[in-house]
Amino acid sequence: MSHSPANAIQDLQSLDAKGGVNPSISDSSTFAFAKAQDMTDTFAGEKLDAFLYARHSSPSNNELCHALSRMENTEAAQVFASGMGAITAVILQLCKSGDHIVSSRTIYGGTYAFMKNFLPDFKVNTSFVDITNLDSIKSAIQPQTKILFCEALSNPLLETADLKALKAIAEKHKLTFVVDNTFTPLIITPTNFGADVVIHSLTKFINGSSDTVGGAVCGSLDFINSLKDVNNGAAMLLGQTMDSLRASTILKNLRTLPIRMQKHSENAQFLAEKFEKEGFKVVYPGLKTHKSNAVMSSQINSEFGFGGLFTLDFGSVDDANAIMEEMQAKNLGYLAVSLGFYKTLFSASGSSTSSEITVEEQAEMGLSEGLVRFSIGLDFDIERTYTIMMQCIKKHIEFV
Ligand code: PLP
Repeated sequence: MSHSPANAIQDLQSLDAKGGVNPSISDSSTFAFAKAQDMTDTFAGEKLDAFLYARHSSPSNNELCHALSRMENTEAAQVFASGMGAITAVILQLCKSGDHIVSSRTIYGGTYAFMKNFLPDFKVNTSFVDITNLDSIKSAIQPQTKILFCEALSNPLLETADLKALKAIAEKHKLTFVVDNTFTPLIITPTNFGADVVIHSLTKFINGSSDTVGGAVCGSLDFINSLKDVNNGAAMLLGQTMDSLRASTILKNLRTLPIRMQKHSENAQFLAEKFEKEGFKVVYPGLKTHKSNAVMSSQINSEFGFGGLFTLDFGSVDDANAIMEEMQAKNLGYLAVSLGFYKTLFSASGSSTSSEITVEEQAEMGLSEGLVRFSIGLDFDIERTYTIMMQCIKKHIEFV
């Protein structure tokens, strides 16, 4: 039977030692060894199943790691204090001075800034490419290239990477294929298409309550162990550790992810279709007019739809700002970055989450100043939401 990420979550059993229906929260930063030799072996990397120190692993973090690795169908996972903690650890684990990365140019602004501004000082350079143009990817690969990096559904332009085609390129050139799946948990299972490493910002849909930052890396046992290695591991040595208490709350929220993802997608699809009918410039991968609709349709676990994000282009940043303020005043959601909350969140990407990308580069990739990214909430009455949204929009722009 093929892998079902929702069943993988549903089937988790985590009774604690006393029969409690949730795993106990581990409240220790250090762990005692019964035998001194076990401690020696653990430090030497010869014993991998012991708890040593909570920066390495802890029982609560391992419960969440186990759940996430099952969801992404990987052998193992490691959780981090943030999505950026996960991304930077993966890159620094895989690239040494002189190495090179080929990355999609439409990625989260923080990831872009890390690759563009931070890594060159360590002699790791990145070529940014249009991830939908396979020829441009092939020609960007150099002998020193180590990583092919993309987001399964890109931020904020919602471009869809053809994961199977990208894997073929990565395999041919012996690159590690790293996919950030933050926008499409459950919707896309990147390992089905050959991803070697899957990253999440848990801050978004997976946690879903906008009360913490968190990150995860899912991959082979060897790779996860290399991240945790006492002598060389980027997770162990850089120290971007998730707190156990947070791991336990994120695990509890993960259990409702399947129904939340369905509702986010259903609401976003409804609104995107309505706005498209009204003649707006709307970008949503679930619309037939979206340039990656066919690729996306072939990659999704269709019971979860096309995701909770779409963009509307209001033309100018002034109109975008006025409409966002109006929508917030009418309690449609919050003028805030991030995504995956029960309320709708909206922000003008060019001047917020993608502001690390220069104005010229934004124009080149099609990110216009009036583009507003919406993370559609779990609104029960989405028709009412649409009516109020239209009132807010009509108040500020001449209607087409
Ligand atoms: N990846 C994507 C696609 C994101 O949108 C974000 C944050 O917005 C991140 C990674 C970074 O995650 P965090 O904010 O948890 O560090």
